[in-house]
Amino acid sequence: MNREDFPILNQQVYNKPLIYFDNAATTQKPMMVIDALSDYYRTINSNIHRGVHSLSQQATEEFEIARKAVQQFIHAAHDHEIIFTRGATESINLVAASFGRTYIQEGDEIIISEMEHHSNIVPWQFLCEDRGAKLQVIPFDEKGELCIDQLEALITPRTRIIAVTHVSNSLGTINPIKEIIDIAHAHHVPVMVDGAQAVAHGAVDVQALDCDFYCFSGHKMYAPMGIGVMYGKERWLKEMKPYQGGGEMISTVTFEKTTYNELPFKFEAGTPAVGDVIGLRKAIEYMQQTGIQNIADYEQELLQYGTQELLRIDGLRIIGQAAHKAAVISFLVGNIHPYDMGVLLDHQGVAVRTGHHCTQPIMDHYHIPGTVRASFALYNTKEEIDFFVQAVQKATQMLQ
Ligand code: PLP
Repeated sequence: MNREDFPILNQQVYNKPLIYFDNAATTQKPMMVIDALSDYYRTINSNIHRGVHSLSQQATEEFEIARKAVQQFIHAAHDHEIIFTRGATESINLVAASFGRTYIQEGDEIIISEMEHHSNIVPWQFLCEDRGAKLQVIPFDEKGELCIDQLEALITPRTRIIAVTHVSNSLGTINPIKEIIDIAHAHHVPVMVDGAQAVAHGAVDVQALDCDFYCFSGHKMYAPMGIGVMYGKERWLKEMKPYQGGGEMISTVTFEKTTYNELPFKFEAGTPAVGDVIGLRKAIEYMQQTGIQNIADYEQELLQYGTQELLRIDGLRIIGQAAHKAAVISFLVGNIHPYDMGVLLDHQGVAVRTGHHCTQPIMDHYHIPGTVRASFALYNTKEEIDFFVQAVQKATQMLQ
């Protein structure tokens, strides 16, 4: 893969070549994306949609081209179903707040899963608190697979929405979301998918999935930080009340009454991150040029190799052994604290994440304080994995 497209990787940490295995937290950015950002600020930076002048018109055009690129990337039916946000967290908060204000009443129920990121737990808790609704949780088993057989029993006539992650950031589990969506729809319950860990690692087709909402961040798919997407089916977005109030989202304002703009602008209050949206489009182009299936296949190869090599280490156990996994390996070695392991790996040039990864209920499930997490992206290599395994061995010898 095209490692040389990512200038940040070409550096040393503690006099060792940087090995960047923290891709589930954020990916690095290719030159195409970095150039697009700097080109935007050097040539067409201006506020969009309301400007009559040339720069504003060019920026508006680029912004709306990017919306179409996202539409095509996830195969949405309409470009006005693509709402730009700051990231997956804001997208999920948008769905919880707007869907909640529109449809949730006292006594209603919302289903999430035990393996959600805090971003897909806390916004629903806010909503439950505000509305007097109740949160229900789909459990997962020891391998880290959702107990889908228990879903049907959790759905009641009061269930209003199911919000579930496509891929777990801590366990790597790829959930059978199509199956979940089919079960939910059989009971007329809409589904919101947290796609933060999925979009960079395989093709997503929201129409084939038939999901009602799909949320993700740009920065985990080679795009700039501060940009994200909330996809929603037109039928919901038309009915849902706006999330934030401000400029752009209105049609008319008087002190007596405000009417709202059409989609997608109804959900995009204020000045958006225009340069970052253009950067997101470039990241999509980059992934498409590389080949999304090529990326998926290559990362699966890294996952299998990494799993096999790590398991050679005495006392190492992998947390999350689902049959279908993304390229995320969470592990512990003996009683070594993940933080200590992380520090010693950093001193050998290896960047991993340690801790609960914003999924405390997963850590509670396994009665562990956290894990060490290595997560791969298209620019990682088997040679890096070899070095990493040696680094884990070295750290283990020092810490045991
Ligand atoms: N959902 C999942 C599964 C994640 O892994 C993350 C980030 O790690 C998020 C949501 C939140 O993403 P962001 O911090 O980019 O808003």
